[in-house]
Amino acid sequence: MSVSEFELIDRYFRRGGARRDDVVIGIGDDGAVLRPRPDHELVVVTDTIVPGVHFPSTITAADVGYRALAVNLSDLAAMGAEPAWCSLALTLPQADEAWLRGFAAGLLELAERFDMQLVGGDTTRGPLTVTVTAHGWVPAGGALRRAGACAGDGVYVSGTPGDAAGGLRVLMGVTECDADSRAVLTRRFLQPEPRVALGQFLRGVASSAIDVSDGLAADLLHVLEASGVGAEVRLDRLPISASLRACERAEAAIERALAGGDDYELCFTVPPTRESALREWRPDRGVSLTRIGTVVARPGLRFVNADGVVVERHISGYAHF
Ligand code: ADP
Ligand code: MG
Repeated sequence: MSVSEFELIDRYFRRGGARRDDVVIGIGDDGAVLRPRPDHELVVVTDTIVPGVHFPSTITAADVGYRALAVNLSDLAAMGAEPAWCSLALTLPQADEAWLRGFAAGLLELAERFDMQLVGGDTTRGPLTVTVTAHGWVPAGGALRRAGACAGDGVYVSGTPGDAAGGLRVLMGVTECDADSRAVLTRRFLQPEPRVALGQFLRGVASSAIDVSDGLAADLLHVLEASGVGAEVRLDRLPISASLRACERAEAAIERALAGGDDYELCFTVPPTRESALREWRPDRGVSLTRIGTVVARPGLRFVNADGVVVERHISGYAHF
């Protein structure tokens, strides 16, 4: 390596995103020393991204850095947590300084935006792999969980699922549509916005929540299984963006919305008594909320059309193994 491991850490990672006053010791010692918050519980999440598996190998270093943290912020959001600290385990084939500068900028700018401090990590040589561990706070007992959905609850999704899968297809060059729509969709794939504020808003409102990484249907199924219930989802209620409609036929757009991964929207359930609380979440807070169905006692996920007639659909989602 042209630059030593220590110089590299110092040059690119030491600034650490946000400066938090609950960080007693950050990067530079054998371990980080962090101050806990009274009456809160700590939520800890880890996600690894590998080029060629989680993103095309051609995306920029800044987008790799952004994504490595964004997927973790999305898990914190799904738990209703307020982001605090993260650490980074980075395996690199070589110390390419231009790549590292871009990567660190993508990761640390996002960290700063969510008031999160990078407090440590590890740097090794090998095939490119990026693992981030992130920590966030919830008031004691307040974390959102996958278990908790009950028959009669509304099923909701934030934003417009399917856009990221549409964006990946644009990047792969398999869709034809106008330049504006292509730009919107590729951005939704490359720079998903973690729904951190929404996750915290949903504490005490949602009965269950998950973030959509493998596909809306597959992730909703995880909630239903954890909760021991089923759901009916109305295909005509799926919020499909104008950009996705411009780039895909109607049936393909529905398939992207249900089975496309990488949206990092939140899917959650809300009891009827608390649905009115959702009105306090205004679309001007950047993301719409759409009721797409209802939780039912009978296990499994069923799709129905506008007339309530069951539509047979195979449910697919991303699985690594
Ligand atoms: P040690 O050999 O004692 O484990 P390291 O040389 O691995 O120490 O790390 C030195 C310091 O740099 C530690 O504070 C560690 O957390 C931090 N660090 C190492 N790699 C990274 C990285 N990729 N991002 C952020 N901090 C890092
Ligand atoms: Mg080490």
